[in-house]
Amino acid sequence: MPNTRPTWIELDLRAAAHNMRRLRQIAGVPAMAVVKANAYGHDAPLLARTFLEHGATRLAVATLGEAHTLREAGITAPIMILGYVPAWQAAEAVALRLTCAVYDLELAHALARAASNHDWRVPVHINVDTGMSRLGLYHADPVQLTADVVAFIRALHALPTLHVEGLFTHFATADEADLSYAHTQLARFARVLAAITAAGVRPPVIHAANSAATLRLPAARFDLVRPGIACYGLHPSSDTPLPPDFQPVLTLASEIAQVKLVAAGTPASYGCTWVASRPSLLVTLPLGYADGLRRTAAWREVLLCGQRAPIVGRVCMDYVIVDATDVVSPQPLRCGDPVVLIGSQYDPHTGTLKQISAEEVAGWLGTINYEVTSMLMARIPRVAS
Ligand SMILES: *Cc1c(COP(=O)(O)O)cnc(C)c1O
Repeated sequence: MPNTRPTWIELDLRAAAHNMRRLRQIAGVPAMAVVKANAYGHDAPLLARTFLEHGATRLAVATLGEAHTLREAGITAPIMILGYVPAWQAAEAVALRLTCAVYDLELAHALARAASNHDWRVPVHINVDTGMSRLGLYHADPVQLTADVVAFIRALHALPTLHVEGLFTHFATADEADLSYAHTQLARFARVLAAITAAGVRPPVIHAANSAATLRLPAARFDLVRPGIACYGLHPSSDTPLPPDFQPVLTLASEIAQVKLVAAGTPASYGCTWVASRPSLLVTLPLGYADGLRRTAAWREVLLCGQRAPIVGRVCMDYVIVDATDVVSPQPLRCGDPVVLIGSQYDPHTGTLKQISAEEVAGWLGTINYEVTSMLMARIPRVAS
């Protein structure tokens, strides 16, 4: 992939391969790599291919459009849509040979009907809501939930063009310090599994574990794990850090568009909300809120010559201004010099590597690393390194 802009996302595919191999090794069971939202903002086709080459046997996405993109890229591995597929998308889901999550008979019937036009059976995985209250077969009474799941599987078995391949659930708190609610969900799921096994209707692929559960809840690994965030070398949470050898995949980089020395009293950017308190060296970078930087919450710093320099004034649509006055550089800063917004950069002054992580940016913006990388817009080119 060629770089087409002086602002870009660099993807370390060796890091992605390493993370995937390690997750596969830790889990001890097959892995379905979660590549929804353009692989958490990275690049779905590139990352999907890397994960499949290094231990994942399946992929998961959130929407039919995301699955379509992967099929267009020539990926033939099983792809599961984790979330809601409306019945009107059933025919396209079957034509793309996707695996669908089901939790009501309307979609199941639509898929079964669509599959009657093909010579393959549609794989479906039953989503059981054990406490996330988002999607999935639900009943407030865990005993009744168990009975409902058995009845639902029997109803699906009556549709010969469906293949009831899997059954899964999703944790609400597997990344938190207190795992008691995750254990409650796991116990509800175990009750369902005992019942479907006793009834002789257990599908072959049982799964529950996101990244955090893959790392911390061995009892939740079952037949398959569904890691997302950890594949990208990003920590599931501060309470669930990755093992130390995992490596972040994404670097957000740019370069200096212009350098200017301004006098004390000179304002910068829209609204003149920042005014130089001393003679200042300002550098303008060619990225802004239309790239995902966000205007209201402050993206505080960038790396220039491996040193932190503050963003000053308002973030514009396509530009931000950085105060580089305190940066110690071997040569005067000039147009084209490299800048890192997420990732590492070498500091020639101290001979060390400095880092701004997605986790640190998340702290500045009052959010989580998941949102920081997935908010990076499509107009930033993605480049494999
Ligand atoms: C996003 C998602 C995952 C992956 O979660 P991570 O925390 O990124 O590992 C797994 N399962 C479902 C149903 C999801 O929506």
